[in-house]
Amino acid sequence: MSIIQIYPLPPFSCVFPFFWGGSFIIAGILSYRKIITRITVIGESIIELGALNQTRIAVEKKIEENDLAGLLHLTALIHGHHCVGSAMGVIAAHHAMKTLDVKENTGMEHVIAVVETNNCFSDGIQMVTGCSFGNNSLVYHDHGKTAFSLVKRNGEGIRLSSRPDLGDLLKDKNPETQERYREIVNQRNATPGEEAKMMELNRRHCFNVLSIPAEKIFKIERVKVELPSYSRLLDSHICPTCGEKVMETKAVKKGDEYFCVECGGGEHGQLDWAGIRIVNKEKKAEDSNQ
Ligand SMILES: [Zn+2]
Ligand SMILES: [Zn+2]
Repeated sequence: MSIIQIYPLPPFSCVFPFFWGGSFIIAGILSYRKIITRITVIGESIIELGALNQTRIAVEKKIEENDLAGLLHLTALIHGHHCVGSAMGVIAAHHAMKTLDVKENTGMEHVIAVVETNNCFSDGIQMVTGCSFGNNSLVYHDHGKTAFSLVKRNGEGIRLSSRPDLGDLLKDKNPETQERYREIVNQRNATPGEEAKMMELNRRHCFNVLSIPAEKIFKIERVKVELPSYSRLLDSHICPTCGEKVMETKAVKKGDEYFCVECGGGEHGQLDWAGIRIVNKEKKAEDSNQ
């Protein structure tokens, strides 16, 4: 259409048949170029659509190619830094994905990660396995152990737990870094310069850790795990006090009304650095009145 607009046939062109011919050739070339451009655009769209359906292709490729450093870099996208803990998560998750031959995870709960800690380790697990809080494929056991299981829907799985002599194994690789890291994290009194230097040392150290075989770091065992059922979509209620929507399973029923836990009182679990603790809103109010 645009070609016709760009190249209208001039009224005198009948007198110059060669000009007609020339116009068609030029228009033909331009049409051809346009078609090619369109195919390219459509081609790109197809590639984009493919990428949309294969969202984790970058991770899966790195698992396939045993690119642990690449997986650690990807983990740092959600973890914010490179560290030994997240490196251990990468090693464990990579080993489990390979052993159970999980080639992809579409986040539809066909494969589940059961983590037993909420430290740096867990972010390596989430990135490499694709099991996360948001897609309901991450089950959290508040055990305080650097351990995790990768489990298929039939309950067959593999569990990796850090060996008790692991501290020495990692310290052997860089004792000074480990000690200083502990001091900085526990005391929180490092200057920005000290912290940056520490992070850099830690970053270099954790790439060395990646070269340690999984069997040396973890006790590895086959397990049979009882998994929660597939998730279901539940109704929500609007809390009459705050007007916010609350999931049915978390609503506090009083008479015929459903309140959120904040307004209706009661207790809820809170996950923080020390693990899960139960927060009781009513009890907290009583405590603060004392
Ligand atoms: Zn970390
Ligand atoms: Zn409310």
